[in-house]
Amino acid sequence: MEKQSTHKSTSQAQSQPQNLSDRDLLKRMQLLVQRERGLVTEILHHLREVERRKLYSDLGYKSLFDYTVKELGYSEGQAARRIQAMRLLRELPQEEAKELEKKIEDGSLNLTNICQAQSFFNEVKKACPENPLQAKDKLDVLKELEHKSSRQGQAALMEKRQDAGLDVSLPKEKTRILSGEHSELRLVLSKELLAELEEVRALLGQKAMGMSWAELIGEMAALSKEALKDKKFGKRREKATPSTPALRRRCIQTAAPKPRSISKSKRYRVWERDGGACVKCGSKTGLQVDHIVPVALGGGCEEENLRLLCGSCNVREGVKEFGLMRMKREDQSVGRDRIEFCEWGSRG
Ligand SMILES: [Zn+2]
Repeated sequence: MEKQSTHKSTSQAQSQPQNLSDRDLLKRMQLLVQRERGLVTEILHHLREVERRKLYSDLGYKSLFDYTVKELGYSEGQAARRIQAMRLLRELPQEEAKELEKKIEDGSLNLTNICQAQSFFNEVKKACPENPLQAKDKLDVLKELEHKSSRQGQAALMEKRQDAGLDVSLPKEKTRILSGEHSELRLVLSKELLAELEEVRALLGQKAMGMSWAELIGEMAALSKEALKDKKFGKRREKATPSTPALRRRCIQTAAPKPRSISKSKRYRVWERDGGACVKCGSKTGLQVDHIVPVALGGGCEEENLRLLCGSCNVREGVKEFGLMRMKREDQSVGRDRIEFCEWGSRG
C-alpha cells in the first residue's frame, strides 16, 4: 500500500511541468489544449440542452446569459461567446454544424471569431429578413475567419458588412452602468426621430423647454406607460382583490375545462398584484398570464389561478408539467427555441 502511494506520488512529480523535458512539455501542452477545445464543444452541447429545457428558470435566472454568468461564473464576454457559438451550431444543419465543431476542436476557428460572425449573420438577417444567409454562405464566411486573430476577423467582417450594404459608419448602441443609480445610454438617432422628439417637447409645453434629454425621456416614459396600460388592460381598471382560500379551493376542485378568455381588467389586476414581473425570476419582459393549474387539468380563470410568468419560465413550467417529449420545437431557422404547447394548448 505504502509502496503504491509512493509510486503514485513519484509519477505525479514526474508529470509536473517543471520536471518535464522540453520535448515532453511541448507535447503535453498540445495535448492539454486539444482536450480543452474538445471540452468547449461539449459545453456548447450542454448549454443548448439547458436552454431547451429552460432549466435556468428553476434557479431563478431570467435568461441563459444570466445563468451562464452568475451560476457558471463566466465573464460576460465569455458567456456571450459561448451562447452565440451554441446558437450558430443550433441554426446550422447537422452536417454543417459537425463541420464547425471540428474546426473549433482542431483550433482553426476561435470562439471570438465565431461570435463575431454570428453577429454579422444576425445583422444581415435584420437588414433583409426575406433574404438571410444560407448555411453554405455562413460556412464560406467562417472559412475566411479560420486561423485569424480576433482583430483580423473583425477587419474581414467589416469588409463583408460593406459588401452586404450594411451601414458601418454608425456606432452601435451601448449601455454602460455608471453607478448603482445611473447608467449611460449611447444611441444614434436619425434626423427624423430627433425632429419628432423636439415635437414632443413642444407639445409638452413650457415645462419641457428646459428639460435635459434624460428628463424628456422620463416624461415620455411616464406617458407611454399609462397609454400602454390603457391599451393592454382597458381604460377602466379595478384594483387587485385579495385572494380568499375559498376561491382558491373552488378553482382547484373544479375539474371541467373552462373558457380561456381572461378579461383585460383581470389581466391588469394580476399584473398589479404580481408587480409587473415574472413571479419566478423577476423578469419584466415577455410576460404572459399563466394558469397555475393548467386549463387542461381543470384549472380556471380565477385571479387566484393566474400569475405572471415570462416566456422562459412559462415553457419551463410546461416542461415540468407535461415533459419535454410532448413539447414541440419549431422554426430552427430563426435561431430561437420557440417551444409550443402542442396538445393541451392551455397555459396562458
Ligand atoms: Zn421568469
